[in-house]
Amino acid sequence: MAYLDTQLFIDGTWQNAADGRSLAVHNPATGQEIGRVAHASRADLDKALAAAQRGFEVWRDFTPAARSKIMRKAAALMRERADEIAQLLTQEQGKPLAEAKGEAMAAGDIIEWFAEEGFRVYGRLVPHRASLSIRQMVIKDPVGPVAAFTPWNFPVNQIVRKISAGLAAGCSMIVKAPEETPASPAALIKAFQDAGLPEGVLGLVFGDPAEISEYLIASPIIRKITFTGSTPVGKLLAGLAGKHMKRVSMELGGHAPVIVCDDADIDLAVKTIAPSKFRNAGQVCISPTRFLVHNSVKQQFAEAFAAYASGLKVGEGSADGTQMGPLANPRRLAAMAEFQEDAVAKGAKLLTGGSRIGDAGNFWQPTVLTDVPLEARIFNDEPFGPVAAIRGFDKLEEAIAEANRLSFGLAGYAFTRSLANADLLTRRVEVGMLWVNMAATPSAELPFGGIKDSGYGTEGGPEALDNYLNIRTVAVNQA
Ligand code: NAD
Repeated sequence: MAYLDTQLFIDGTWQNAADGRSLAVHNPATGQEIGRVAHASRADLDKALAAAQRGFEVWRDFTPAARSKIMRKAAALMRERADEIAQLLTQEQGKPLAEAKGEAMAAGDIIEWFAEEGFRVYGRLVPHRASLSIRQMVIKDPVGPVAAFTPWNFPVNQIVRKISAGLAAGCSMIVKAPEETPASPAALIKAFQDAGLPEGVLGLVFGDPAEISEYLIASPIIRKITFTGSTPVGKLLAGLAGKHMKRVSMELGGHAPVIVCDDADIDLAVKTIAPSKFRNAGQVCISPTRFLVHNSVKQQFAEAFAAYASGLKVGEGSADGTQMGPLANPRRLAAMAEFQEDAVAKGAKLLTGGSRIGDAGNFWQPTVLTDVPLEARIFNDEPFGPVAAIRGFDKLEEAIAEANRLSFGLAGYAFTRSLANADLLTRRVEVGMLWVNMAATPSAELPFGGIKDSGYGTEGGPEALDNYLNIRTVAVNQA
């Protein structure tokens, strides 16, 4: 499918930037320019802000049923258009078509779930201490216009989680989507437009991320900020939001430990966690990254993992049978080379991979390193790429201490046949999401988010709606 240029979506209209500026979009499998994306100016942002205010005043007065109807239509459109959207997504982001289609289909599920959950935003009545004729109500209202900032690794999913919860709560939103992968987010917004969302309720802008975030966060129209991306940028935006007293939710980086106990089913562990490692070329915030394997099974695990990795079919996401595509941008390629050199220089053993593939596009071999020292950068900084770093441990307490050593606390994984171990891991591993004897299975109905430096404010489950609601008390003396 032809890749089209992406415009801004402001006040219900697709438009170029007021000053005509645009940025190039590249296909990460070839490095070639495939289109352009409009680069918003201040004038565009002012228009988007005014529209978001008007949109909010309309949308907050829709009943949950009326909101739900439009959202369910948007979900149906996402499913109907999943093949086309997948093609755009693969061209701009690189992931295999099947993963891209899965992302578009999952968007339908997420929108639909929040369309229903919007019915369950309830208040409560609290008896007054002295008088029965005083009705004390706790009511929940939408916070107002929201600014959402989202990254390029899941261009559709990262946005849909935010807008589904925000719209179900009655908020309007301006989405600052990733400039590197703009067309699939635009297709998502178009599904809402075609489903009949009133003008101004959703806006879509692109441009200079720092300039846009500073401007939108400072605007008195914006009442809440939501961001997905790296921890350093999250801290910066949370600081700005604090300065302007704005509500915030942050879905930030992770460095997920995978603890493989001596009693684990090693075949199961490799079969489930190795595909997770290389999904989306490892550019996943919950990607398994620090493999802590009991020394009695480390060699068996590492060899089987490396065999899986070296058998993966790497290529263009649009080609038949591709299991892993390119990295999404050249920054990741440079980062992989640095992680690799540093780990090996510090004593890690390379079991497979470790090099760039070809000289066009951002392809990096599925890589497995073992006996990685703790000082290696890959055991400290989020790798965000197709590299697995393995090291051994002797006692489970040591592995738990290592899992908790970093300031991240997003996802964690463990493999064990012992209920006692599983219980200890459940209580002690400091992460927002822990999966035991399985790969991650996030879904709309489950909280999704981290603790510690991985952020706050979950993006799934009924709790996600709370991020977009004000809680207010009203008392009426009816005497
Ligand atoms: P980055 O940290 O500069 O950017 C991450 C995202 O934040 C991008 O979408 C970018 O547009 C946005 N961003 C950057 N500065 C911003 C600002 N001042 N205001 C608003 N948005 C801003 O760098 P990058 O090279 O794009 O990604 C590098 C790292 O980011 C990765 O290694 C990974 O750790 C992290 N990341 C995490 C996720 C996630 O799902 N949590 C997604 C993408 C990237």
